[in-house]
Amino acid sequence: MTGRVAQAGAAVGAPLPYLQAYPLTLQRQVQALLARQGTGAWLLQKYPQAHAVRTDKALYQYAAGLRARHLRNADAVNKVLFDSKIHIVRHALGLHTSRSQVQGGRLAARHEIRIAALFKQVPEAFLRMIVVHELAHLREREHNKAFYQLCEHMAPDYHQVEFDVRLYLTHLEHQGEPLWGAAST
Ligand SMILES: [Zn+2]
Repeated sequence: MTGRVAQAGAAVGAPLPYLQAYPLTLQRQVQALLARQGTGAWLLQKYPQAHAVRTDKALYQYAAGLRARHLRNADAVNKVLFDSKIHIVRHALGLHTSRSQVQGGRLAARHEIRIAALFKQVPEAFLRMIVVHELAHLREREHNKAFYQLCEHMAPDYHQVEFDVRLYLTHLEHQGEPLWGAAST
């Protein structure tokens, strides 16, 4: 009897650290997909192609383009790069740092965005989602309503893509192969 109680309280199926915030019914569907090793095929069918942003320079231009189009009044970004040292856990897929620096006799914010190196070989929608997230922090520090409205303004499918990104991270965590090329540095 005690055994049954303990079992009922425990998580059923594979642990899903990247999907904790989603409804349980959705988590169950992912567990079923993982059980029959279907995550890779599901993702590849939806996203057949990887993006072509290969270098830090190209990434900077990609981010600067999005900022110019959608966040005209926000500060410029000084530096954007892929970082192989970012430890991907829950909300740390990317990193935005800003610090004050004396420029021409006055204080100016210097913004730096780091994107986990894993995003070098993913679909364009995935890259856009993470870059949009970090760009939105130029305006909103917190993950509040205004922040997510800004994300959706820059990427209307932001929330759906975030789920798909987290599904891919889950796929990798369960020893799935990288889907859009080997994850290099
Ligand atoms: Zn954030």
